[in-house]
Amino acid sequence: MRPFKYARATSEAEAVQLVSATPTAKFLAGGTNLLDLMKEDVERPTQIVDLTRLSHLAQIRPTLNGISIGALATNAQVANHPLVRQNYPLLSRAILAGASAQIRNMATVGGNLMQRTRCPYFYDTAMPCNKREPGSGCAAFHGLNRMHAIFGYSDKCIATYPGDMANALYALDATVKIRGANGQERTIPIRDFHRLPGDTPEQDNNLQHGELIVAVELAKNDFAKHSYYLKVRDRASYAFALVAVAAALALEGDRIKQARVVLGGVAHKPWRSTEAEDALVGKEATEANFRAAAEAAMKEAKPLAHNAYKVELGKRAIVLALQRAMDETI
Ligand code: SF4
Repeated sequence: MRPFKYARATSEAEAVQLVSATPTAKFLAGGTNLLDLMKEDVERPTQIVDLTRLSHLAQIRPTLNGISIGALATNAQVANHPLVRQNYPLLSRAILAGASAQIRNMATVGGNLMQRTRCPYFYDTAMPCNKREPGSGCAAFHGLNRMHAIFGYSDKCIATYPGDMANALYALDATVKIRGANGQERTIPIRDFHRLPGDTPEQDNNLQHGELIVAVELAKNDFAKHSYYLKVRDRASYAFALVAVAAALALEGDRIKQARVVLGGVAHKPWRSTEAEDALVGKEATEANFRAAAEAAMKEAKPLAHNAYKVELGKRAIVLALQRAMDETI
């Protein structure tokens, strides 16, 4: 690991000011991704600004219209919080599908959103990678791309976003609250938080340098009764998704009033399938209609040399997730 300066922030303003002042500075929260990347020489910050003493950023509290989850709340705290379990069980389930118990005790909400791809070439500094070193090429494009994207990629990068929590947050229309270098707060709808790779795969999201995530907010919704998070992976735990599905339905009588289908492991960001959602709204919650939605979701998929299996796997995962959402009535 390369030498770096370390500072422990005593306020949000100080944290933002310190990182803003140095283009190669980084915030540190749980460190479950950043420290790995530093040890692998992928991330090379010259200054680390430790946020972990800003305890007010770890609060989870009800709001007039839902819930506010502080950026430093750990994954375990969020997943096990009574309000989250009761009103947003999809979020709870998605978080518990990720990583391991030890990592969930350290990883934070803000850090989870900021985690970087697990493309193996990104971690291997001997290989070309446009995300790690812009302009160097993409080793995965003609390499082993079994884990890579089937939607929204470019010839510069075919990586996938690896997280689980964000897939649920996309389904629940979360809002990300941010504090900027000028001290002002702004919000980003979660659907606009992460980016597709395009010509600038080195930019994972739409934050400016120095901007600090302070909270994630969720409004009330009608999805608590029927939602499910399905994760398909190579082994039963502590593995990233080949395909994941965050599915949520709100019913009116025997018809679907609102639907959310967000896919993980298939794109550079959580992939909300409005095609599947449109196919479901107004229909009955039957297997045939779930199959039609799954077909619609995968219609525009463009698999690479080694990941065509994700198309059929994705369809089956969508149908099963929707069926389980119906079975999981709370
Ligand atoms: Fe790098 Fe993206 Fe290509 Fe992986 S897919 S090698 S992260 S540019």
